[in-house]
Amino acid sequence: MNPNPLIAPPALVRRAEQHDTKAIQALDSAHYIHPFTDHGDLATRGSRVITQAQGIYIWDSEGNKILDAMSGLWCVNAGYGRKELAEAAYQQLMTLPYYNSFFQTTNVPAVQLAAKLAALAPEVRGRKFEHVFFSSSGSESNDTNVRLVRRYWDLMGQPQRKTIIGRHNAYHGSTMAGASLGGMSGMHAQGDLPIPGIVHIEQPYFFENGRPGESEAEFGLRAARALEEKILEIGADKVAAFIAEPVQGAGGVIIPPATYWPEIQRIVDQYGILLISDEVICAFGRLGHWFAYEKFGYRPDLVTFAKGVTSGYIPLGGVMVGDRIAKVLIDKGGEFNHGYTYSGHPVACAVGLANLELMEREDLPRKVREELAPYLAKRFAEIGEHPLVGLAETCGFVAGLVLVKDKASKAMYDPELAVGMMCRAHCFRNGLIMRAVGDRMIIAPPLVMTREQIDEMVALIRRCLDDTLSELR
Ligand code: PLP
Repeated sequence: MNPNPLIAPPALVRRAEQHDTKAIQALDSAHYIHPFTDHGDLATRGSRVITQAQGIYIWDSEGNKILDAMSGLWCVNAGYGRKELAEAAYQQLMTLPYYNSFFQTTNVPAVQLAAKLAALAPEVRGRKFEHVFFSSSGSESNDTNVRLVRRYWDLMGQPQRKTIIGRHNAYHGSTMAGASLGGMSGMHAQGDLPIPGIVHIEQPYFFENGRPGESEAEFGLRAARALEEKILEIGADKVAAFIAEPVQGAGGVIIPPATYWPEIQRIVDQYGILLISDEVICAFGRLGHWFAYEKFGYRPDLVTFAKGVTSGYIPLGGVMVGDRIAKVLIDKGGEFNHGYTYSGHPVACAVGLANLELMEREDLPRKVREELAPYLAKRFAEIGEHPLVGLAETCGFVAGLVLVKDKASKAMYDPELAVGMMCRAHCFRNGLIMRAVGDRMIIAPPLVMTREQIDEMVALIRRCLDDTLSELR
């Protein structure tokens, strides 16, 4: 029995014999180029074939039930199997499956979703978000941000403001601009990135970058002031924007010290540069608020969103455009020569609307903030006592733990051992999806978990840590 009464009981899980796993794997490896996958491994070991999902669980073609502590790729906020979302898609497909928003046309779901998002985005210190630009993904949305930022400064008569500052180990997508804004060295190494006009500063990761004797609060200020140093190095009149995730997700759930964001706000205000909050992971309840800038109290000009807006049921992304930019773009800009065939796709927007209404009905952001996140934090503090764990931390409903060789000194294992991957393999074996970023294990579970399901997840994590420790000894 699924203990969460908000989610329908699991549908009948198809039997393993209905899927010929080996045949699917052979076709997969012969024809399908996967994102972020070693194709040598695909050919030798085959991929895991996921066939069905319900609530917080997925099933593979062998009939194994797996607790998905990553919500797919940080996106299935409302959990799997939500009928309302399928029905919204079906109704819209039957009414108007497609029409574009180019050349002065529009469609009802896109308008309604834009208005809904504007209503949900809180005003911070006088800055409002009344406008939305739609895309189909986080990457496209960040490409849109580059276009928006450049257009804004051109219209402001400061075309020399071109440089955008990002952070090392940040993830902002896989397109040329997205990967360039991000700070993933592995991505930069393939394809001569970043593109010109994008530079990076250090990430606010105290565990790795804190100096001996430095407090976390002092480190937070120092990490933020790296932005000021970079602005001064480039010349303040040449800097267009700073882009950052509120909490770095794909980089390993890097949670900034409390002093970080207020200092970033001081710096962007002082030098007049635009602030882009990439909330592709952190919005829609993930950190206990509709938008994460509210949690940290800073004031962005642009907010990137995707993933959780439809709980991943259908591709949709976009940018919340703050009034500072929207006013200039609309009053002075004329035609903005930018857009995607699927900008404001009616089916995606209908699903987005249904998803946000579902999240509102179930009060998910508040539930995360007041109930689930404190409970997860308590249970993670207990995991922190495990001999293999050097640090366990949570922020809203994301969490990370660092696997260490020596708990007292926090010495790490030799990277050659790939302890994170070892632990991830034990997770797979034990029916748990947890992600490894180096030796940092991370989770972002669906926001519909019950306390009992958090307990079940924590017990599984413990078992995987025990198994990893046994293998290491
Ligand atoms: N920005 C952030 C913070 C992300 O985490 C991601 C994806 O994980 C993206 C952008 C890119 O989104 P997409 O994969 O939808 O292009």
